[in-house]
Amino acid sequence: MLDLTFEAPKPRVISGAKHDWELVIGLEVHAQVSSKAKLFSGASTQFGAEPNSNVAFVDAGMPGMLPVINEGCVALAVKTGLGLKAEIHLKSAFDRKNYFYPDLPQGYQISQLYHPIVGEGEVIVDMAPGIARRVRIERIHLEQDAGKSIHDMDPNMSFVDLNRTGVALMEIVSRPDIRGPEEAAAYVVKLRQILRYLGTCDGNMQNGNLRADVNVSVCRPGDYERYQETQDFSHLGTRCEIKNMNSMRFIQQAIEVEARRQIAIIEDGGKVVQETRLYDPDKGETRSMRSKEEAHDYRYFPCPDLLPLEIEQSFVDDIAATLPELPDEKKARFVTEFGMTEYDAGVLTADVENATYFEAVAQGRDGKLAANWVINELFGRLKKDDLAITESPVSPDQLGGIVALISKGDISGKIAKDLFEIVYTEGGDPAEIVESRGMKQVTDTGAIEAAVDKIIAENPAQVEKAKVNPKLAGWFVGQVMKATGGKANPAAVNQIVAAKLGQ
Ligand code: ADP
Ligand code: MG
Repeated sequence: MLDLTFEAPKPRVISGAKHDWELVIGLEVHAQVSSKAKLFSGASTQFGAEPNSNVAFVDAGMPGMLPVINEGCVALAVKTGLGLKAEIHLKSAFDRKNYFYPDLPQGYQISQLYHPIVGEGEVIVDMAPGIARRVRIERIHLEQDAGKSIHDMDPNMSFVDLNRTGVALMEIVSRPDIRGPEEAAAYVVKLRQILRYLGTCDGNMQNGNLRADVNVSVCRPGDYERYQETQDFSHLGTRCEIKNMNSMRFIQQAIEVEARRQIAIIEDGGKVVQETRLYDPDKGETRSMRSKEEAHDYRYFPCPDLLPLEIEQSFVDDIAATLPELPDEKKARFVTEFGMTEYDAGVLTADVENATYFEAVAQGRDGKLAANWVINELFGRLKKDDLAITESPVSPDQLGGIVALISKGDISGKIAKDLFEIVYTEGGDPAEIVESRGMKQVTDTGAIEAAVDKIIAENPAQVEKAKVNPKLAGWFVGQVMKATGGKANPAAVNQIVAAKLGQ
């Protein structure tokens, strides 16, 4: 494991008109389970399908239809819990959360209020290389997603698409351990990274497959420490919940403006009302959506259609045995195994697909050189074309081939860049390209010597100057490199030039 320094929480302090205020933030992240079928029906979860084409009778709330739990979704929730070092509850249960919404045909959502499948865990949030913060997870429960109401297709009508109704969500609830906007974003980044490594949620925020409800309150300095000592929430301010945030940037903006709104209310002698709000990025403000419902408003009760969910310890153990290497472990291994900096290891492990690509390039080759080429050349080139690593025109095998040619001294770094561009645009086997296009580095000292002699003979005035000013040797090296099309071994050229100039 990396040697992490755990920072004491550094709260974001905002100066109001009268006092300083600190931020307290807790997140409820809804992560869509990567399952082909819904939580209680066999209907497909495919994104972008024809509206209302992926709807089973039970999803449509048809009378008499019975939900049947999808074991695959349960397994993925357990896997997520294990990945977050959380307690797995062998007994959990589903409850009905009753409310009316046009896109919720059942008239209730099946969720897990009283007995969630996963209990306390943690997320280690990376603040800077070597500096981390621990955010406690309170619980993860499984629940159904709702459908989608569409209001902008017709001026006089609204439409309902039930494709999403009944899709499995994991609600991952943090403790109010987050103390600033950047930390909130860093938490979501890390959580998303872990879920993607685990393969339990694809983390696609644009499609709404990962979204966060952000709870924000403000308190006076010292209050949070009193909360920590006692775990008594009365030391904290009243919170508001900003719903359905699906961008890291908006999460940060929303926290900032919401905190300032609350501070202004309190300093004006008012009281913050606990409620659900929406962030409007165009106006840069949060707006009230509905007053915060209490649990009793939903008339939660155990879902009579489902037996309590009981899983065996062996089911959990089997999943534990399949857990992949997680981001922090991979990062630590990259540092020790390949001798790269923690920063580079962080870049390469930021996304599981980058890490997999890099490992394939580095396999049996110079890891540090491979890291350099993946980070500087490949990532840079892909960014220019706005391509994801999975769309890279250069395969790990091809890039590995280039790295191997550099290691062997067959090509110089400069030629390698040309070669990379050829492979990127035209494809092909790097070693064959080097052979067929005569790109091999000239290490034959006789050939280099001849080139140096020629340059010296052609430039007597430069030779005289170089005898007084040894730094001018670099000019000769440059000329030789040019004359050989960059193929001469730079170390050999340096050495021969120095010798011939009598340095
Ligand atoms: P609810 O069921 O009403 O949504 P929860 O107890 O589940 O309430 O808490 C929701 C989220 O609010 C959790 O992530 C929790 O950490 C966070 N939270 C609780 N109190 C505060 C507070 N005073 N300030 C900020 N966040 C809070
Ligand atoms: Mg909640």
